[in-house]
Amino acid sequence: MDLGIRGKRALVCASSKGLGLGCAQALAEAGVTLVMNARGAEALDAAAADIRARFGVEVVTVAADITSAEGQAQVLEAAGDLDILVTNAGGPPPGMWSDWSREDFIAALDANMLSPIALMQVALPGMMARNWGRVVNITSRSVKAPIPALGLSNSARAGLTGFVAGTARQVAAKGVTINNLLPGAHATDRTVTLDTNAAKAQGISFDEARAKSQAAIPAGRYGTAEEFGATCAFLCSQHAGYIVGQNILLDGGSVNATL
Ligand code: NAP
Repeated sequence: MDLGIRGKRALVCASSKGLGLGCAQALAEAGVTLVMNARGAEALDAAAADIRARFGVEVVTVAADITSAEGQAQVLEAAGDLDILVTNAGGPPPGMWSDWSREDFIAALDANMLSPIALMQVALPGMMARNWGRVVNITSRSVKAPIPALGLSNSARAGLTGFVAGTARQVAAKGVTINNLLPGAHATDRTVTLDTNAAKAQGISFDEARAKSQAAIPAGRYGTAEEFGATCAFLCSQHAGYIVGQNILLDGGSVNATL
């Protein structure tokens, strides 16, 4: 299917690895010019070189912390006029509800709520002026079904979801859509960390922890970054202009709900 976005310009945050990289690759395959970001320059430059070689699109990289005001300013300056914005950052660490301090909450809010909001506040006016734009925020299935050990994530992502719900309806008439993608477990570095922690906590091996986690998913496996990226690219396509303010689960059926 031709996604109809060849030549558009996208910023994909936190995209040297994992789900962000999956989104960058799928957009590049659709002919989109990219600005990619991550903190570590080495993996970022390698990912960008691979995308240029495979898809022949222009890719600019900005090594910066997207959760800091300085990092956001650097990335946005390099990005210029944007048609597509994919927000993403690392997820907060797991822990116990009684242990988190005010500082822990502020850090989680900065990374997973206030940073994507700040990026949208800069990108949306230009998109609205040009009567076309797509924003996809990578959040988590924890928005629909809380993950107790990830209380910092549950809290921050709920805040972003509320912001998007209202804002998406304020910009839709200008041809701009904002939607959230909610990953369940995917085979990335993030789940290596989470499964390592689960193995330690339960006194079992990493492989046993992973097998147990996968067995609890109706699909019987973790998702892939490629599947995730393809969904993101579709949401950014010309075909998705009527999808507004939605929270789309990609979780192999993990959230056990009818709607
Ligand atoms: P990942 O494989 O660990 O990749 C994270 C990517 O983000 C890397 O490229 C990393 O590069 C970059 N990054 C992290 N913090 C950053 C920052 N402050 N500024 C700029 N770049 C940053 O993680 P993932 O699995 O793709 O997860 C992406 C998001 O989805 C996370 O918020 C995660 O919590 C959420 N999520 C993931 C899953 C899952 O199963 N994978 C499930 C639910 C939710 P650098 O380290 O070099 O910066």
